[in-house]
Amino acid sequence: MNRKVIIIGSGPAGLTAAVYAARANLEPLVFEGSQPGGQLTITTDVENYPGFPDGIMGPELMDLFRKQAQRFGAECHFKHVSKVDFSQRPYKVRVGDEEYSTATVIIATGASARLLGLESESTLMGHGVSACATCDGFFFKDKKVLVVGGGDSAMEEATFLTKFASEVWIVHRRDELRASMIMQQRAQDNPKINFHWNSTVEDIHGTVELGVTGVTLKDTVTGETRDENCDAVFMAIGHLPNTSLFADSLELDKKNYIVTKNGSTATDIPGVFACGDVIDSYYRQAVTAAGTGCKAAIDAERFLEAEAHS
Ligand code: NAP
Repeated sequence: MNRKVIIIGSGPAGLTAAVYAARANLEPLVFEGSQPGGQLTITTDVENYPGFPDGIMGPELMDLFRKQAQRFGAECHFKHVSKVDFSQRPYKVRVGDEEYSTATVIIATGASARLLGLESESTLMGHGVSACATCDGFFFKDKKVLVVGGGDSAMEEATFLTKFASEVWIVHRRDELRASMIMQQRAQDNPKINFHWNSTVEDIHGTVELGVTGVTLKDTVTGETRDENCDAVFMAIGHLPNTSLFADSLELDKKNYIVTKNGSTATDIPGVFACGDVIDSYYRQAVTAAGTGCKAAIDAERFLEAEAHS
């Protein structure tokens, strides 16, 4: 069966595209990917999504997005796309052994946590090293934990971790934070949060059996190194776009985000649209992702309409 639109990804962008595409009778098929609901499902309180004056939990918000899309007939599958072929139409989207044909594709694959790239970091991932305080914070009750990064994510994770940990240390490579004033203030006012300024993590100590026991920090001004004890290290140093599936078929920018044309969601391949964090290294908000998801569905609808009348 040839679909009118396949949506890859199920964060705010993908599911908003699904709401709009479904209401336009495009009967969208959504492949939700390995993290259904996207990054908001691993956050706690979302305080800045309009319409929720008291805030809402991330997973609950994404369940509402999905329900709204399904109400209009979107078909959502917890499946991971393994390959795409945009070389000829209809386009092909492969999920394991299954192949789907579609007239248009909306890519909303989002972004994933950036890591430092240390060998010890990958060995100890899940054993005291984590990129998700919401998922793993609970395991470090009354422990000393480190959060790496100086942006909003680092402040948010550090603040969240004070619910469990006895001490939270933010390790930042400069002496000035990147985070917004309100998030900085919240972290700085929290008596459990301390800072290692001008510091980078050079190595993480520990074993898979014992977990993390400490880190080696390097002073970015003097170059000196020192060891610090801790029980966990949480990475909060930004994100990388999930574009490896498209590296051979679509134009990517130098940071590997998908390039879209003239303020629209059109990629360099006609009928392939992209939205959300996979095209946005700057704003990266749920509400901006939802906005571009809406644009992608409208762009796909108009593309199909124009094609039908040509
Ligand atoms: P970000 O703003 O890009 O900050 C990344 C931080 O990690 C920066 O402080 C950066 O240092 C540091 N960093 C990057 N690579 C590093 C490396 N290799 N080693 C050491 N440190 C490194 O990312 P983010 O905090 O994930 O935030 C992303 C976006 O989401 C932002 O727009 C943010 O406002 C938004 N966000 C909002 C909320 C909220 O409002 N509730 C919560 C989370 C995120 P430098 O500063 O030196 O570059």
